[in-house]
Amino acid sequence: MRLSIVVPCFNEEACLPALHERLAKAAQAAAGEDFEIVLVNDGSRDLSWSLMQQIAAGDPHVMAVNLSRNHGHQLALTAGLDLCRGAYILIIDADLQDPPELLPAMMQAMQDQQADVVYGVRKSRAGETAFKRFTAHSFYRLLSRATDVDIPLDAGDFRLMSRRALDALLSMPEQARFIRGMVAWIGFRQVPFAYDRAERFAGETKYPFHKMFRFALDALTGFSSAPLKLASHAGLALSVGSVLLILYIAYAWSVGRNVPGWTSLMLVVVVLGAVQMFVLALMGEYIGRLYNESKRRPLYIVQEIAGDGHNPGRLGH
Ligand code: UDP
Ligand code: MG
Repeated sequence: MRLSIVVPCFNEEACLPALHERLAKAAQAAAGEDFEIVLVNDGSRDLSWSLMQQIAAGDPHVMAVNLSRNHGHQLALTAGLDLCRGAYILIIDADLQDPPELLPAMMQAMQDQQADVVYGVRKSRAGETAFKRFTAHSFYRLLSRATDVDIPLDAGDFRLMSRRALDALLSMPEQARFIRGMVAWIGFRQVPFAYDRAERFAGETKYPFHKMFRFALDALTGFSSAPLKLASHAGLALSVGSVLLILYIAYAWSVGRNVPGWTSLMLVVVVLGAVQMFVLALMGEYIGRLYNESKRRPLYIVQEIAGDGHNPGRLGH
């Protein structure tokens, strides 16, 4: 099998028919008949799964995977990546924000530059709110300052990978998966591919604020322990502050000035409380994740598979 295209889908019934058509065309242009499209249904509550079954029944290139519930974007993607068999693997969103038509050019770039990963970098983002653009922009910059791994700026999961790069990725067992960062971590030759991100073809974003926030925390905690160092920085700053305060108090006492001090007392209490709570919360994020990882649960559960690739031996992780 030359090419696999892996697509996580959550409530994407409005996108699926157009998605299938455009993916099949692009795949044919890039790999002739030797390709598969792996659609992963991440516990959709609309008609996505029955549509996928129909598509799989009508097209032998399509394998449709039904997860047992909504496991989240990154785990749905992992399920598809585990099951796909191609020598080259394209990861793409279901909403057609990343144009499938770029695939032949990405294959070309991979061969020309002898790369193992060709990752899409968003030159522009159409149809996204100023808030989304702002948070995404700040997120990628904050992340790159906090981590030692060179995670490319403004790159999503839209990327073409070689089999050996994918196998390296799949050898990473973590539960909290930030796949674009994990791919950066594995190394090999990775080259950017600039493109303009289109508007969502249909439907709404499946990343409401709380999911975005969780995603950002997974990225940050997964790739950096810098937030933990905040405790030592805050401790240092507060110690210096307390020495100054002590000196001032000693001075005030020696000149016999009685400090009424309600304001300063409250200030110290409030600042100390806030900093301590904040640092505790940060530690909690790491501890929660440690706990999660230590349970070693499977990453996802496959309920059923429809279409060509059906092979019960592949079920589960
Ligand atoms: N997605 C998923 N499970 C989820 C949320 C999203 O499989 O719980 C899929 C979704 O169907 C899409 C991709 O992840 O294919 C990216 O989601 P979306 O396009 O809504 O994110 P955005 O582009 O708005 O950041
Ligand atoms: Mg999208």
